[in-house]
Amino acid sequence: MTIALALHGGAGTLRRQDMSAEQEKAYRKGLQQALDAGHAVLLAGGSALDAVCASVCALEDDPLFNAGRGSVYTLDGKQEMEAAVMDGNRQDAGSVTGLAGVQNPVRLARAVMEQSPHVTLGFAAAEDFARRIGAPCRPPEYFHTDKRWQALLLEQERLAAGGSDADIPEDRKHGTVGAVALDTQGWLAAATSTGGRTAKWPGRIGDTPVIGAGTWADGHCAVSGTGHGEYFVRVAAGHEISARIRYLGETLEQACDVVVQRDLPRLGGTGGVAAVDRQGRVALPFNCEGMYRAAIDGQGRRIVAIYREDG
Ligand code: ASP
Repeated sequence: MTIALALHGGAGTLRRQDMSAEQEKAYRKGLQQALDAGHAVLLAGGSALDAVCASVCALEDDPLFNAGRGSVYTLDGKQEMEAAVMDGNRQDAGSVTGLAGVQNPVRLARAVMEQSPHVTLGFAAAEDFARRIGAPCRPPEYFHTDKRWQALLLEQERLAAGGSDADIPEDRKHGTVGAVALDTQGWLAAATSTGGRTAKWPGRIGDTPVIGAGTWADGHCAVSGTGHGEYFVRVAAGHEISARIRYLGETLEQACDVVVQRDLPRLGGTGGVAAVDRQGRVALPFNCEGMYRAAIDGQGRRIVAIYREDG
């Protein structure tokens, strides 16, 4: 029986020369742990949905990645987290946006799918729902990292000096975590979680919680995106990849390449995706210098990589 899992931890200007050996080691360890967490679920015969949630929770709990703990800050110094899950088997989905204080936004997104009549809940309503179902919450210090705070100060300075959002190096704004999986039943699922983009306007909603943009799963493929969310929404990236497979008969790799290497850059969008199809093929394309990524494909081949020239 074929199982497969792929994940990402954000994409951007990730260059070997900009990273210390310790930093690189820590990122690889975080990716490895998240891969192991999801893979263990699949090996035990668990569902793709459980597997992607396990991987994404591991990344949300790791302050190195921009999701859950370690999320970036909005222009006014708050954290507004977003997450989504999609179960390809039932083509059902749940997502949350504008969330603060919930330890694992991805679990709340799943609860929206499973315990509410809705697909997406945001802001105060999402937090009320979290309280009602007893989702584990944490104080602001838990989510804070100096690195993300410094990144905000830098952006604020840049904007105050007349710079535009477009001048900010992509690596400072990027980050999202996501996982896609195929389980022993042949079912696919996707999950994505993010703090969004540094210095985003309060109330801004990115691609992660928009089903069909940053998160998608059906009977053909599962996709999780990372990159400049506005562009992922404008090309309906996740759904577009699936549509190309279904209507044009493209392979997962071909469909992902068209969207990531042609459609997104044509509008000016940078980023990448983690994707898997029902044969257990994995694709991890990106159109910038690097993407934190890891996978075990249907043939058991394992990769943990960061830079373009890696793996
Ligand atoms: N896609 C995320 C957003 O736009 C950020 C990222 O993946 O870099 O909110």
